[in-house]
Amino acid sequence: MPSRFIGHSEQREQLARRFQSKKLGQTLLFQGPTSIGKKLLALDLAQKDLCEKNNSCGSCQPCCLYLETNLIDAPPPNLLFIAPEGKAGQIKVESLRSVQDLEGGIFEWLGTSLGPDLHKWVIIDDAHQLNTTSANMLLKLLEEPPSHVYFILITHRPEAMLPTIKSRCERVIISPLDSSEVQQIALSHGWVKGEIPPMLSLAEGTCRYLDLERYERALLQVDTWLKLLEGKGDLRDIDQLLTQKKEDEATASNQWLRDTLELLLRIINDLNRIRYHAEPSLLFYSERLRIISEREIPLREIEDKALEALRHVDRNPSANMILQELAFLLT
Ligand SMILES: [Zn+2]
Repeated sequence: MPSRFIGHSEQREQLARRFQSKKLGQTLLFQGPTSIGKKLLALDLAQKDLCEKNNSCGSCQPCCLYLETNLIDAPPPNLLFIAPEGKAGQIKVESLRSVQDLEGGIFEWLGTSLGPDLHKWVIIDDAHQLNTTSANMLLKLLEEPPSHVYFILITHRPEAMLPTIKSRCERVIISPLDSSEVQQIALSHGWVKGEIPPMLSLAEGTCRYLDLERYERALLQVDTWLKLLEGKGDLRDIDQLLTQKKEDEATASNQWLRDTLELLLRIINDLNRIRYHAEPSLLFYSERLRIISEREIPLREIEDKALEALRHVDRNPSANMILQELAFLLT
């Protein structure tokens, strides 16, 4: 939940300028870490295009369509917004086929024009979640996009996308936000200043932990890994983590495992940094990390195991088995 108005101001203006001077590619890939405002930057372009003042003023009627509607079920007329659905978190071919109940789906929607000098925008969030059939269908469109259409694919995992799709797109790299920007956004979401520092050290310039449930899950995950590394934890702590996974209905189960493993890898990375006298990235946990770094722990082995598990995470492996094996190495 980044903010529309905080962060990326230069890039936002630059994209708008390129669009207005007709120098913006028709097929773009916005890539960068999760929860930094990539989707907002993409939507801003489409909103500007429809806005009566061409600056996403926020008050004209077309702008209101952007601000008030559910973008998937009731999108503004120039926008087709596609995102993964369900616990499996895939973008299925039905999403492209059933666009706005049109018989010809996305092809029919793109085939009609809103009028001279008006454009249509297809924004695909988490484009790495396109399954093979939908990716192939999209590929046909990206090969020769109609002249009035812009495609913006968004991803934080470009490595998981089909190379044929990526090669059709112009890449736009979006960087993380500054800590001060994340702090500003947190304050605007009602966070109390004193509670922000631990969140900032976990967030690495993203807004992923502004969601309180997600934040609390991450805190428990970090705490569990640290406890095990401190020699104070046991398999019951892993059981507790797995309870969290079961209760988390919003996150696809492999995504939960990915998040957990990535946090463990960050901790390992921080322990290595401390060994080389650098500051850990999880600044808030510096003290605990420093004490752990003095213990004899097979960091290399743990890292290899976690990386291997991460490589196979899309095949929905048993989280239970992976976490237990890691806990065994850690203790
Ligand atoms: Zn407007």
